Amino acid sequence: MYLVLFVVTLAMNVTLALADHKLITLGFIALIWTLDIIVFTTIWCSKASFIERDPEVSLISLMETFEAESLCPFCRVIRLPQSRHCNICNQCVERYDHHCPWVNNCIGRTNHANFYIHLLLVLAYCITSLINASVSLFKTSEELVIKVPTSLITTSIVTLLAFGLFFGMLISVLVVNQTQNLMQGMTSTERTRRARTLTGGSEFNQSETAN
Ligand SMILES: [Zn+2]
Ligand SMILES: [Zn+2]
Repeated sequence: MYLVLFVVTLAMNVTLALADHKLITLGFIALIWTLDIIVFTTIWCSKASFIERDPEVSLISLMETFEAESLCPFCRVIRLPQSRHCNICNQCVERYDHHCPWVNNCIGRTNHANFYIHLLLVLAYCITSLINASVSLFKTSEELVIKVPTSLITTSIVTLLAFGLFFGMLISVLVVNQTQNLMQGMTSTERTRRARTLTGGSEFNQSETAN
């Protein structure tokens, strides 16, 4: 669904740019898409944030050496600072930020930077879509270089304006949150937990650094 929406908006952006001879816009969209396909694929395929279990070490021998709270009973690994067990991937993830359904993968230590770049590229695409549609909005059909049915132009403009505004605002919020995470050296999970602690009372203070 996510991919279909982006492919449809890509077709609309290309239609408007070609009809209006906006070659710089066309080149910029091609650059964003090329870069994002590379970054997206890297995030999607990355499994390196998962904490691998040593098959020769049993849970009992780990429990004899470490405290039970510092072990994950599902993966039988030692919980590292900022690591957490993902119930969807069923693995412990190093520096766990969140499980992203869009890339169907966990965002952790090795792919967090790429996830941030992906958000910036999607935001750049939303802004470009808004500019592309806004410029075409003020063009008359006589000014178009390539003649395209008016209904297609109108549908593309309305769809791209709605897409750019909605997704642009959504992605902006995510970019702000992730920028705060990077500046404070925190993960989204830690920030959520801290927000709960601040609103939920002092009894949770002890558990903030657990996990
Ligand atoms: Zn685990
Ligand atoms: Zn996961």
